[in-house]
Amino acid sequence: MFTLPAMDTASTGAYDDVRAASRALATEAVHAGRDDLARQGLHAPPIDLSTTYPSYDSRAEAARIDAFATDGADPLGPPVYGRLGNPTVARFETALARLEGTESAVAFASGMAALSAVLLARSAAGLRHVVAVRPLYGCSDHLLTAGLLGTEVTWTDPAGITDALRPDTGLVMVESPANPTLAELDLRAIAHACGSVPLLADNTFATPVLQRPAEQGARMVLHSATKYLGGHGDVLAGVVACDEEFAGRLRQIRFATGGVLHPLAGYLLLRGLSTLPVRVRAASANAAELARRLAADPRVARVRYPRLGGAMIAFEVHGDPHEVISRVRLVTPAVSLGSVDTLIQHPASISHRIVDAEDRRGAGVSDRLLRLSVGLEDVDDLWADLDQALAEPVRTPVPLREAVR
Ligand SMILES: *Cc1c(COP(=O)(O)O)cnc(C)c1O
Repeated sequence: MFTLPAMDTASTGAYDDVRAASRALATEAVHAGRDDLARQGLHAPPIDLSTTYPSYDSRAEAARIDAFATDGADPLGPPVYGRLGNPTVARFETALARLEGTESAVAFASGMAALSAVLLARSAAGLRHVVAVRPLYGCSDHLLTAGLLGTEVTWTDPAGITDALRPDTGLVMVESPANPTLAELDLRAIAHACGSVPLLADNTFATPVLQRPAEQGARMVLHSATKYLGGHGDVLAGVVACDEEFAGRLRQIRFATGGVLHPLAGYLLLRGLSTLPVRVRAASANAAELARRLAADPRVARVRYPRLGGAMIAFEVHGDPHEVISRVRLVTPAVSLGSVDTLIQHPASISHRIVDAEDRRGAGVSDRLLRLSVGLEDVDDLWADLDQALAEPVRTPVPLREAVR
């Protein structure tokens, strides 16, 4: 524990830093990014929808813009323009950085906008080669494979990372547990294999509740905040947690390319973070039980559930996976994940459709694989729905002449 520093607690952020160093994740989830509210006489965080901000001191604004152009540091003093930074979004960024244990975080309009900014920042430094491990989320795979941003990718397994590095390699990218197979990687070993090349770990599936990749050596932690961080299926967002130096580059890219997060989304994400630990734990308990029941079911060929835990299950059925999708009633057949309700989808048809079929199968995404994002419903209700959805269809229709007889 700590003792209060002998100073005016209203005066400085240093007090918050001292206090933050001793706080547990569950406490950070409800307090980080809100430390100033009580002193302002507020309880809920305000939503600042301003696109611009009045200033009678244009010399000071010029200095703030010059400083931002130099290192991308969050401009000190009053905000200038919505694309440069927003106070509500900044609360979410502060909170997520605390949860991931990084210096900073930079939020974007979507997970893909966040990944794009990382790739652009590396390319702008002359480092356009990326080494990546499959499987990744389908669109991340597509962005790298198609080279849409002028990057070049080398796909490898974890053991091949060191050999795949080149002088122009700017990034190593992995997901663990991976979308959609839930394959798990040893992030610490991979960070070691990267040497001085920064490792980007997509932590969307684990969330900082179950795994903090920065503690294992990842320089950047990516989230599709659309998923667990938002947690209610009503916000599209992305975020990169990283050191302040790289955050500066990302803010400059965000300012210049415009993939900013809307302040209302920032508010909803901050609210989502406050229940993240309880949501993840409750959904994980449901998922662990469903994974157990699926594994014991003769209609199910194979179940993948991460050692790490979590609320995602991947499984293969002996029958037709499209039939399972067509029969769910309580569970919603839809892409995406991480909401309070349970979703199921067929990766080969939807989330990973855009990946070349051979590459997809090579990455372990079979045509029979189903991906289940387990929510907060009662586990027996969920099982009852899965049980009826798994029911074998009547394979041989009654021959016509018998039917008319
Ligand atoms: C959904 C997802 C993304 C992309 O995020 P968007 O918010 O949809 O742009 C990236 N990585 C993973 C693991 C995802 O599941």
